[in-house]
Formats: sequence, structure tokens, C-alpha cells
Amino acid sequence: MLKKTLWIIQIRQTTRKPKQQWLTVPPKSNINRQAASIAGGGLFFAMKVYKIPEDLRAIVFDIDGTLYTSSLYVFEQVDAQVRHFAHIRGMSEDQAREQIRHYRKTWSAQHGGRKISLGNTLTAFGISIQESIEWRNTLLEPERFLKPDPELRKVLIELGKKYKMVCVTNNPVPAAVKTLRAIGVEDILTSVIGLDTCLASKPNRKVLEAAVSLLNVQPEQCLSVGDRYDIDLALPLEMGMGAVLVSGVEDVYNLPSVVMNP
Ligand SMILES: [Mg+2]
Repeated sequence: MLKKTLWIIQIRQTTRKPKQQWLTVPPKSNINRQAASIAGGGLFFAMKVYKIPEDLRAIVFDIDGTLYTSSLYVFEQVDAQVRHFAHIRGMSEDQAREQIRHYRKTWSAQHGGRKISLGNTLTAFGISIQESIEWRNTLLEPERFLKPDPELRKVLIELGKKYKMVCVTNNPVPAAVKTLRAIGVEDILTSVIGLDTCLASKPNRKVLEAAVSLLNVQPEQCLSVGDRYDIDLALPLEMGMGAVLVSGVEDVYNLPSVVMNP
């Protein structure tokens, strides 16, 4: 089934203003790349605007893959834990990668193509959420992969003048704060709900309820911004929030123009 959706298209690494464009694309994942190719080739990127609340008061940001673009660090976060899992179980790193990959692939096939978080995957291998919280706090070193982002900083300061903001992440809060520090925005995004806040991973409802309660707004007044539809946006939309799918931080740079002039 094809569905018309509003996309914000911009040529990467130019100063040209983004333009809004209606495109007809399949309503499934990897749509950003499909829209990019439909829009005319590899130099484009696009954010997908599902819904902007009429009375927008607060923005819920995912962190990884949303507030920075680094496929290397996104990969490393998973792989650092998988390598650690291999070491404590006395198997090779490749064997561990294969076991985890196979489990996630099977789970997805049994759940209509949905994705499972790494934290929930590890519980199936006997690693509690508490343990994976400790792993992440000690193993992750975002400062080796990321650097301060002045453009993001400017955008968040602008958004912060009008909206309350919170980060909701499947990393524990100390690891998430390290990431925010590495990209130079930890003094702007001071509220973080992490894996250790509710001992639950997105897309668990508890996590979003904690965000809404912290923000002291109604779900209908919130906008969720993230790079994974299943993890960051599906439940928020179900709860009545707005949602924007981004393909990386370059899309977040355009967020003020989207939410302030919907
Ligand atoms: Mg993400």
C-alpha cells in the first residue's frame, strides 16, 4: 500500500534551505533512503513528519542516531556489549555476534517485522537489565567517536526557549550523559530518562509515561523525535503524541522550521 506523507528534503552539505515535498512511498521502514532515492539520488536526506501536535509543549528526543550521526558509534555500542558477552561466556566474538544476530532476526520474524532492543535480547541470554546497565556504564566511550556539535547546540537552545525537552534512551543515564557531553549539549538537555530509570527499554510504555510525567504535560502535547520507527515512534503515536522520524542529526537541524512553522 502506498501512502502520501510529508517529507522534508534537503541536499546534504549545502546551505540551501530545506523544501517540503509530498512523496508517495511505501509506509514501512528504510523509507528515508527510499525517499532519498525518489527525491533524486544519493545526496539527499529526508525526515518523515508523522504528526506535529497542535498544542506542542514538549519534545522527547532519542539520543543515538538522532542527536548525532555516527554509524560507527551506533555499531560500537552494541558490539562492545556483544564482545563482553563473548568474553564472559568463553566464546569467540564472532560466535557471540552470530548468536545475538540470529536471536534478533528470529524474534523479528515472529513479531511481524518489529525490532527488539539489545537490552531485551540480552535478557533472553540470562543477562539481566541490571547487568547490562553496568556493562554500558563501564564499556561505552562516546568521546572516542563523537565531537561537539555547535549546530545542534544552536538548534536545541532555540527549541528550548519554547518547549520543554527530555531525552529518552535505552542506555543508562550515566552513559547517555557521557554521549550528551561528547556532542557538547549536556548543559542544555539536562533531563534524561534511561534504561536505569524504569528498568525498561523503549518501546515499553513505562518509559514514555515517565517522560510525560517528568515533563508535566499531556501526551497530546508531546513530540517524539527518533531514528527508529518501531523503537521511538510507534508507541508515542499510539499514545497520541506527535512523531518525526529522522535519519540523523542533520534532520534535527531542520526541526525548528518544521515544528515552529508546521
Ligand atoms: Mg536511536
